[in-house]
Amino acid sequence: MEPSRLEVLITADTIARRVAELGRQIDADYPPAEHLLLVGVLKGAWIFLADLARAIPRSVSVDFLSTSSYGKERTSSGEVKLVRDLDESIEGKHVLLVEDIVDTGITLSYLMRVLGQRQPASLRIATFLDKPSRRKEAVEIAYRGFEVPDKFVVGYGLDFASRYRNLKDLCALRDGHV
Ligand code: 5GP
Repeated sequence: MEPSRLEVLITADTIARRVAELGRQIDADYPPAEHLLLVGVLKGAWIFLADLARAIPRSVSVDFLSTSSYGKERTSSGEVKLVRDLDESIEGKHVLLVEDIVDTGITLSYLMRVLGQRQPASLRIATFLDKPSRRKEAVEIAYRGFEVPDKFVVGYGLDFASRYRNLKDLCALRDGHV
């Protein structure tokens, strides 16, 4: 894992406590007995979604989509496309969009527009991380795990060149400033 390249920003224990809190908060906010659909944005949100789903003490189902931004650079290039759509209709459902990190906000503002047109009963965002210093498009975040500084972060689902997703702690790449 080349640990010398990595600086721990948030430990696994701190993450677990925060995710448990978010689960309780989400459960308290929705009407009792309403079913909740968690929509994960692949691939970065998979671990956060798995933990969050188990922290919400009510009936939930899950579905996934994935997006790509044009270009291969680390940061979003400004154009997003849906490369994998949901399996099921979200019409009339309470949808919680689960994302790994909101950086420029371009991906989530695109997804909120696309999913909002499908008449869900409600549509909110839960993001593990928020990097507000780099925001280009405003997005309303209902549930936020942690705010992070302007560093390139990996672990707990987030990758660099397809690696580091399985790190338990959230880390910054030492040479990874963007
Ligand atoms: P946005 O559209 O908000 O700029 O970017 C969202 C996507 O960019 C995230 O879902 C994530 O895939 C990627 N991203 C932004 N910042 C980081 C970061 O610090 N680390 C990693 N691994 N991905 C990031």
